[in-house]
Parts: sequence; C-alpha cells; structure tokens
Amino acid sequence: MTAPVAPAPHLVALDEDVHAYVQPDGGWCVNNAGILGGPDGAALIDTAATEARARRLHETVHTLVPGPVHTLVNTHSHGDHTFGNALFADEATVIAHERAAAEIAEHGLALQGLWPDVVWGRIEVTPPQVTFRERLVPETRGPRYELLHLGPGHTAGDAVVWLPERRVLFAGDLVFSGVTPFVLMGSVAGALEVLDRLRALEPLHVVPGHGPVGGPELLDANAGYLRRVQELARAGLAEGATPLEVARASGPGPYAGLLDGERLLPNLVRAYAELSGAGRAAPLDVPAAFGEMVRYAGGLPHCAA
Ligand SMILES: [Zn+2]
Repeated sequence: MTAPVAPAPHLVALDEDVHAYVQPDGGWCVNNAGILGGPDGAALIDTAATEARARRLHETVHTLVPGPVHTLVNTHSHGDHTFGNALFADEATVIAHERAAAEIAEHGLALQGLWPDVVWGRIEVTPPQVTFRERLVPETRGPRYELLHLGPGHTAGDAVVWLPERRVLFAGDLVFSGVTPFVLMGSVAGALEVLDRLRALEPLHVVPGHGPVGGPELLDANAGYLRRVQELARAGLAEGATPLEVARASGPGPYAGLLDGERLLPNLVRAYAELSGAGRAAPLDVPAAFGEMVRYAGGLPHCAA
C-alpha cells in the first residue's frame, strides 16, 4: 500500500504583510511556518522537515516578499521546524530560545532515525546564532513582533512569536489544531500554564505548529486535552496502572477526531513523571517512550515528511 500524498502547502493571509504557511495535514513531521514581510525583506518563522519541503518554502517566501530573508526564528528545536535552517543561513540571522539552540546542536539529525525511510534530502544541522532567555524584540521595518519564552511546554525551549498590534500569535508546537498535542519533551503542567498566558495576550489569530489556523479557541482545545491527560495519569497512578494500560483502557475519548492520537501514550509518560516529582522538561527516556507509543499504536505512525 502506498502512503497517501498530502495536499500542497498554502499561504493564509492574516494581516498586511503577515502570512501563515500551512502544510496539510499537520501530522507527524508536517509543520507550519510564518512569514512577516517588510521593506527590507522577510522574517521567517520556522522551516520544514525535508530538503524538498524547505526548498518549496524558500521559493514561496522569496516570491511573496522581495529582498532577503533577514531573520529566521525557530520556535523550538524539533527537526520538522529546523531542518531547513541551512537553506536560509546565508541570508538570515537565526534566532531561538537558548535551550532550543542547545537542543538543536545536541540532537542533530536524531529525528531521521525514527523514520529512516523518509526522503530527507541533504540536511545540514544549523543551530541559531542568536539566542534569548525570556523576551526578545528584534529590530524590524516590517510588522513589529516579539519572541516570548513563557516556560517549558512542548519542549524546554519554546518561543512564541507575538505581534501585539496585529494580535497574531505564532504559537509553534505549544498549540496543535486538529492534531493531538505532544508534550513528551516538555511539561503537561507547564504547557497548561503557558496556554493560560497565551490566552491573556488575547490573540485574534493563532497559527499552530501543526494543522489549520484558528483563533483563541485552539488554546482552550489544547488545554482541555492536556487536563484530561493529567486526570488519566492521576487515576492511573492511584490504581498502579502503567501508562500503556491507561492508554489502552481510556483511548482518545472525546479527542478521537484528532490526528496522531497515539501521542496519548507519551503524554501520559510525561504526566506520570511530573506527578511523581520530576521537574518540568526534566530529561526522560524519549526513545523508550516512543517505543511504547509504537506498541500502543500497533506500528510506527506515518511521517508524511
Ligand atoms: Zn515540535
């Protein structure tokens, strides 16, 4: 059986000089990006997983905005958001949270090991040159934006891109849309707090890291999912059940409509660790949790990169 071909990426105009670059269907490895135009070129938010997808994004940005991509923001370290960095490194200053930059250097091409059959193309790991800790406001002649790190959530080093005048939020993988949230490398409790702080910004448009663009309702949907994970973990721990037993017994429940439902298993692993005293984004055995997820799912999930 051949895998279905994903629909082509498309641009969503959110405001003057503000676009989301949406790659359907938003499942594993298929992320979104953002493009902020301006008189001296573009700021790009995230790249893509494979050389082919990054080249397509490169062509789209340069067709949409004259001039160079002067700034590239990585919302976090994961390869689907950062593997295309090298294509922009000649023209762009690459910026990320300090923890994300360290993870990019440390993890290298590890993601490719999970899906060795994907045609990744030539990927050169390119860590950011500029990092920040809590907040950074890059100089720009385009739409004003700020980078905020609001605590560990999806990973230890998440950054959101917030446009205060336009009320547009590029949330990275702190927000998924129509796709199951994933906090194995971050924190369930932390992600819930970050979602509260994102809600307080009162965004009009929310660009998720994966899936269709929406509004603030996406923040509530992600929070509802994560609260269920916490409740299941609490009950499972009290009963002495393993995350795999809990995931099998409970299933996706009201979230059955989301893609990549197998993430319930790794999310439970993180929730268990946290309820047992592990710090937020404390290192866990990620390959072991991934292996348990494959067991739960009955096979390796599809990566449409
Ligand atoms: Zn991610």
